Amino acid sequence: MTSAVDVHLEVFGTPPAGVWSAPGRVNLIGEHTDYNGGLVLPIALPQRTTATATARDDDLLRVHSAQAGERVEVDLGTVGPRSPSGWAAYVAGVLWALRQEGHEVRGLDVTVDSDVPLGAGLSSSAALECAVGAAASDLFGLDLLDDDASRARLAAACVRAENEVAGAMTGGMDQSAALLCREGHALLLDCRSGETSHVPFHLAGHGAGYVLLVTDTRAAHALNDGQYEARRRASEAAASALGLDSLRDVDPHHLDDALARLADDEQVRRARHVVTEIARVRATVEALEADDLESVGRLFDASHTSLRDDYEVSCVELDVSVEAARSAGALGARMTGGGFGGSSIALVPESDAEDVATAVAAAFAERGWTAPRSFVVTAGASAARDA
Ligand code: ADP
Ligand code: MG
Repeated sequence: MTSAVDVHLEVFGTPPAGVWSAPGRVNLIGEHTDYNGGLVLPIALPQRTTATATARDDDLLRVHSAQAGERVEVDLGTVGPRSPSGWAAYVAGVLWALRQEGHEVRGLDVTVDSDVPLGAGLSSSAALECAVGAAASDLFGLDLLDDDASRARLAAACVRAENEVAGAMTGGMDQSAALLCREGHALLLDCRSGETSHVPFHLAGHGAGYVLLVTDTRAAHALNDGQYEARRRASEAAASALGLDSLRDVDPHHLDDALARLADDEQVRRARHVVTEIARVRATVEALEADDLESVGRLFDASHTSLRDDYEVSCVELDVSVEAARSAGALGARMTGGGFGGSSIALVPESDAEDVATAVAAAFAERGWTAPRSFVVTAGASAARDA
């Protein structure tokens, strides 16, 4: 296997100054809650994106990606909202955002490689941004990896890259996961206050031993066809109809009263998902702390039902993968990520993991769909310098 350093040397003709990497993530529960000021509970994946880089003393960004199969050059002076287009936006956007925040950042020569599946809802985009952000932080002496507060600032810059330059209006969960997660732990992130805590996530240690099985359905429904923005708008409209800043402020114990005050049936269903999903994140944390995986499984199931019926962001491939996993012995399963395709997760007895993956694949084959990819994941570490 050619090393990242060899590839860099081949592409740019000079050895790199270092290698940095950042993980993809999978959200255990708390979907479409981030932009509602709610709670999310992601783990960092063992799968990572690597940025092998050298600082330049001019404003040129030269970036090669093994996944894109091309090298792109961007003059940093031309970077701004929606410019450049294409995958280089995620890289150039980070340097642009750091400059916007007042950091002295110049150009880079970067080679990118990744084993995070792209576009599978496992956040290859934030892994790319955060790997590049980590490289820029070290190479330009920004010290943004030193502690959680600095890492949160780097995460915010990466969010700006994704929102403003790449033009994807996602919340802040992905970048926080890539920069703040700890190995063996899920990250409980309060998207309103920015507060974080680390929840032990060691399924193998629980009695018979369980694993988290991720299935990339490979269903290609574009997330950016307006559905995400529509859900965001409906949530905001529901909050404002209730006279609240965000749906986070709805007391789950008085949910029915709040819903009764909404005239619009669509808003009722959207709000019900958001409020109950935030409560399910709290319940999942409690269940994990109590080693009660049966409850975690039930919460996964309830989350999926809510996302499918109330928030309407699932799709038939996600529903089939979840049903098939449950029938083959999963304690619980749900879609994860923004929806309309992407991945599902299932909590599965270790001894049944292969059978569950086979059952999901068979359900897809029966329907003539592209074969899904299933793999067991553990909670990995956040962005770091590797070499
Ligand atoms: P996800 O983050 O769930 O994988 P997104 O649509 O948010 O899905 O991000 C995927 C996009 O990010 C890709 O289409 C590509 O533009 C960019 N991207 C991510 N990783 C890489 C990579 N290793 N090389 C080039 N582009 C990448
Ligand atoms: Mg993404």
